[in-house]
Formats: sequence, C-alpha cells, structure tokens
Amino acid sequence: MGRILDGKRMAEAILADVQGQVARLAEAGQQLQLAVILVGDHPASATYVRSKQRTAERVGLRSQLVKLPADVSQNTLLAEVDRLNADPAVDGILVQLPLPVHIDEHAVLQRISPEKDVDGFHPVNAGRNFVGLPSVWPCTPAGVMEMLRREGIDVAGRHAVVVGRSNIVGKPMAMLLLAANATVTIAHSRTPDLAAVTRLADILVVAVGRPGLITADHVRPGAVVVDVGQNRVDGRLTGDVDFESVAPVASWITPVPGGVGPLTVAMLMANTLTLGCARRQVRA
Ligand code: NDP
Repeated sequence: MGRILDGKRMAEAILADVQGQVARLAEAGQQLQLAVILVGDHPASATYVRSKQRTAERVGLRSQLVKLPADVSQNTLLAEVDRLNADPAVDGILVQLPLPVHIDEHAVLQRISPEKDVDGFHPVNAGRNFVGLPSVWPCTPAGVMEMLRREGIDVAGRHAVVVGRSNIVGKPMAMLLLAANATVTIAHSRTPDLAAVTRLADILVVAVGRPGLITADHVRPGAVVVDVGQNRVDGRLTGDVDFESVAPVASWITPVPGGVGPLTVAMLMANTLTLGCARRQVRA
C-alpha cells in the first residue's frame, strides 16, 4: 500500500516558516501585502479566494480583495491591475481564474507587473524560469516539487511523466522536473495510448481535470503518484486518480483533498514573501 503524501501537514510547515519571516519583516517596518482580484461570483473561485485570503491573514500578510462584477469591462479590469501595480504597499497581485469569456485572459495576466506576479504566470517569469534565471514558479507545480523534496523523494535520473500541458500546471511542472534532472515525458489529450506512457513513470503527475482517469492499469508498481486534479463529483472534491485502485500499487500517493491543494496555497504565500523581499530589497 502506497504511503500518503500529506500535503496538509507539509503546507502547515511551509506556512509556519513564512509566518516567522513575515513577522520579522513587519517588525522591521515592512508589512507585506497580497492583493486578489475576483471577477464575478463563480462559487468555486469565491471559495479558492476566501481560502487564499484567510491563509494570507493567518501568516501575517495584509490582504486586499478587489471584487468586480462578471460583466466588468476589460479596460476597468486592466485599470485595477494598473492601480495595484502602482501601489508600493502591494507586493503580490493575483487574478483568480477563470475569467469571463469576454475578457482576454492573456492580456490581463500580462498586465500584472512581473515583480508582483505571485502566480508566476507572466511571460517574463515563465521565460526566466525556462532559461533558469531567478523567478517565482507557478504555485501548484512549485508545491509538488516542495512536497517531493520534503519527503526526500529524489527525482534526479528518474522518469517523470506529466499528464496535462496547461501553462498553469502541466508545462511548468515538466520544466521543474527537468530542472531537477528527471527524464520527462508530457502526455495530453492527443496522446494515443495514455496507459502505455504513464506506465513508464517512476514519478507520475496528473493534472487533467477528469475524475478517475488514472487507474491501476496506468501505474507501474512502486511509482510515486501525484494527483493535481480537483473535480467536484456529487458535491465532493475528487482527483484525477482512482485512489482506491492506485494506492495499493503506488509507493507514494497524494490524497484529494489534502494533497496538492494545500501546498498550492502555501506556495502562494511563499511567492508573496519572495517577491516582496526582492522588490523592497530586504531579507526576511
Ligand atoms: P486545463 O484544462 O488547462 O488542462 C488540462 C490538460 O489535460 C490539457 O493539457 C489536456 O490536453 C489534458 N487532457 C485532457 N483530457 C485528457 C485525457 N483524456 N488524457 C490526457 N490528457 C488529457 O487544466 P489545468 O491544468 O488548469 O488543471 C488540471 C486539473 O488540476 C484540474 O482538475 C484543476 O482543477 C486542477 N488544479 C488543481 C490545483 C490545485 O491546487 N490542486 C491548481 C490548478 C489546477 P490538451 O492540451 O491536449 O487539451
């Protein structure tokens, strides 16, 4: 039976570190702040934003929520981003996705100043990451790497398979694993025989958004299985991996909930701290 990668416990440890550093900076007169823009009233987005804000406050960050109606114009949204970019008290800016269809998501994400881009989605930060310059990584893949590191799971020289190629999870996940010297394969919706590819994995990271996509047939015995998926099925949160059948085969496995999700929020706080220190030219 695979051992559980306990994201909740690891997130608590990261948050305790961040809290200590944020407190030291506040004592030195540097009060860091995270600003979140929420457009519309999508219930899942509202829940994620609440959780991010609560966690920010818990670690001592100031937090600012900018709520805009679902029919907000792109120009008004961009003007809000500009305002936060120009505010010296704001260290991190996050625009909760998805945005309504009439808004050009790329235009909005590119408007965030790269030095306040806590999600690491700006092309400048994506480019810096690609060529190995210091930057912040998107929170979810950064959280997965932190999870593997904290559990002492070495990825160097091992075969990692990432299922999913989004800019938010799949692609940066693959880049991070590559940077950590894994041999990396990326699978996606056009991969003909998914199970044949995933069975090659020593480390399998699944970020698709389809409940139960990965079953025991997809997993090599002894593989480490990280389930990024967050799907609502009958009101319950469930991953992309069929936990019941895969857990007995894997060496390590993340649960959903309680796996990657809490680490994503923790890394958001860590990124806010990193960017705040860099912009203010202070050390925590
Ligand atoms: P996207 O919808 O942007 O990307 C999904 C990816 O999965 C695409 O690359 C797509 O391929 C691929 N895919 C779709 N169907 C299949 C299939 N049958 N076989 C193989 N690949 C397939 O999603 P995200 O990357 O944003 O999110 C993925 C999941 O992770 C979601 O469940 C989301 O809720 C969750 N998530 C969880 C977070 C957390 O904190 N735990 C944070 C962010 C996301 P193609 O490119 O060919 O279309």
